[in-house]
Amino acid sequence: MAYHLLIVEDDELVQSLLAAYMKGEGYKVSCAGSGKEMLATLNTEKIDLILLDLGLPDEDGLTLTRQIRARSSIPIIVITARRGREDRLAALELGADDYLTKPFDPEELVLRVHNILGRAKDGGGDGGGARLEANVIESGGWKIDGGARSVTSPGGQDIILTAAEFNLLAALAKAPNRVLSRDYLLDAVSRNDDAPSDRLIDVLISRVRKKIEDEPKKPKFIITVAGSGYKFSEPN
Ligand code: CA
Repeated sequence: MAYHLLIVEDDELVQSLLAAYMKGEGYKVSCAGSGKEMLATLNTEKIDLILLDLGLPDEDGLTLTRQIRARSSIPIIVITARRGREDRLAALELGADDYLTKPFDPEELVLRVHNILGRAKDGGGDGGGARLEANVIESGGWKIDGGARSVTSPGGQDIILTAAEFNLLAALAKAPNRVLSRDYLLDAVSRNDDAPSDRLIDVLISRVRKKIEDEPKKPKFIITVAGSGYKFSEPN
């Protein structure tokens, strides 16, 4: 079964070029030209990943990101002509998984999509990236299943994480009690060379803490190591 992408883009030329390219890569593709069309498509189709332009005629992409996150953990890659750091960070804070600045190389987009959907890579020279095998990490009572991409808490509760959040938690839990630098973690969640790396990881860490820690401000599992990075603490 091909993954089903939803391209949300009001520029018809960009939309059709992107759709043709992603179809050529073997994806099933649907398109929407506005926020309204996007929400209508999400109500009727099973979508695996959204490529979301921030500048749309009806709604701002950031508002849409928040609306999508309020009801689902579906992966979102924001595509924007805005070069401002603030917009990119805002998109991540609201729950986007990655972003790309226009103009971009479509091959780059394909790599990001592969990375987020956790699909086995078939060449292309991709360096890092938490490409999880179908394996299960068990650490500190947590069960992190790289095949099902599911997370179960020590209390047996299923935790819903977005793709980027999942990749980050998996990278940490794979190396319990070891300090991992922000650069290392960045490789695990994104291939984004122009990412505001420190902030991106900090934003994601805070998103994951809110979901897995009883007291996100006093974390027990994901510990900040001042000046170095983060570690996943495995209690004995
Ligand atoms: Ca646009």
